Amino acid sequence: MPSEEEFDAIVVGAGPGGVSAALTMARGGLSVVLFERGERPGVKNVMGGVMYGRMLADVVPEFWKTAPMERVVVDERLWLVTAESAVTAGHKHVPHDAGPPNAFTVLRVPFDGWFAQQAEAAGVLLISGTTVEDVLVEGDRVVGVRTGREDGDLRARLVVIADGANSFLVQKAGLGRSLEPNEMALVVKEIIALAPEVIEERFTLDPGMGATIEVYGAVTRGMAGYGFIYTNRGSLSVGIGALISQFMATRITPWDLLESFKAHPMVAPLLRGGVVREYLAHAIPEGGFRTMPRLFDDGVMVVGDAAMMVNNLHREGSNLAMAAGRMAGETAIQAKRIGDWSARTLAQYRELLEASFVLQDLRKYARLPDLVERRPDLLHLYPELLSEAIHEMLTVDGASKREKQHRILRRLLDRRPWWRILHDAYEGWRAMK
Ligand SMILES: Cc1cc2nc3c(=O)[nH]c(=O)nc-3n(C[C@H](O)[C@H](O)[C@H](O)COP(=O)(O)OP(=O)(O)OC[C@H]3O[C@@H](n4cnc5c(N)ncnc54)[C@H](O)[C@@H]3O)c2cc1C
Repeated sequence: MPSEEEFDAIVVGAGPGGVSAALTMARGGLSVVLFERGERPGVKNVMGGVMYGRMLADVVPEFWKTAPMERVVVDERLWLVTAESAVTAGHKHVPHDAGPPNAFTVLRVPFDGWFAQQAEAAGVLLISGTTVEDVLVEGDRVVGVRTGREDGDLRARLVVIADGANSFLVQKAGLGRSLEPNEMALVVKEIIALAPEVIEERFTLDPGMGATIEVYGAVTRGMAGYGFIYTNRGSLSVGIGALISQFMATRITPWDLLESFKAHPMVAPLLRGGVVREYLAHAIPEGGFRTMPRLFDDGVMVVGDAAMMVNNLHREGSNLAMAAGRMAGETAIQAKRIGDWSARTLAQYRELLEASFVLQDLRKYARLPDLVERRPDLLHLYPELLSEAIHEMLTVDGASKREKQHRILRRLLDRRPWWRILHDAYEGWRAMK
């Protein structure tokens, strides 16, 4: 690569955030190069993985006609479990015939490959198998990147950092710091093969339709986190994660946690007969709004996980990354139009994010990561109490229903005085209001 060659934009990372940014800019007439460290997009990436149609359709209209979707999600379930029971809730709906599906499951290798192809078709130069090792700075301005290749410096008017969780390029560009173990979760996941008809029967689904189950409570063994089971076409994605600081403190290994999750009496029957095809692990940013880096500066913007844009309560990350990537792309188009790539023009990126669900949602839950870290017991105590209460009411043992209500209340107050329960409710409300 000749060092004097200058593109309008360099994007680092071909995940949902980077590809959205690159695609948007290329469609707007910018010359764009997209670096990906994996041999091809997707091979380094892990996700649950539920994607959301609306944000993808904003970048690739009518994506559902060609994208490698696994199943359209029509059934979303929540389980609060103890060691031996589960309280379940959920929402099921009939899929829409037209337009983008609200949510669908994906496997990242085929999905990322397809998404990157859309960018290439729009004119993006994708360079895979190449790690960006540093950003080039002149004065206070980012002017390009240094790759691991010989003669690997490349200049551009803009660098979009989209290298994912715990981005070291954010640090190199002086926009943020490295994350602490209590600001990241580690998630381990298996892809377990099962025949499509078996999946449909076990999860009561029509052909092609999918279900998700999020599991809170005893399965994380006192740590802050949750397990999940998502249906793919011919496999299940089964995973569990917790804060890295809590794995370190408890010395529970992620592998052990996943094994005990799979053996839980509510989970095991769903996996019976399945064959493990892949084992994967990845970090998820958990620090939320308060740990976000600076999102732009002269010649640089940050999108997606690199900018801590994950809403863990709602299992959203890919959609925030795609929306942010699109907004960074639109800002770059404006910068090219007026010929100014300074922070003054790139500030529009932050304004677009502020006006959208991305920063509004992250700000709404700004206090939640702190609560989850301080009080992982909340995720265990209340599911347990709820389960015991329901079990009591459903057990027909000759006691009157009023007597049962008293038993439930006594058990509750034995475990936690009323003023503490009120305080927990207040803290929960404050973290999510
Ligand atoms: C187990 C798990 C389950 C999840 N489940 C869901 C879910 O169900 N729904 C949801 O919406 N979100 C989910 N997420 C979060 C979601 O995966 C992320 O929010 C999303 O992938 C962020 O996209 P991104 O483009 O910012 O980063 P990434 O998808 O991480 O992409 C970053 C890319 O940059 C590349 N890269 C990194 N460093 C360099 C470098 N130096 N040079 C060149 N390339 C580089 C990587 O190889 C990668 O391709 C989950 C995450 C995990 C770990």
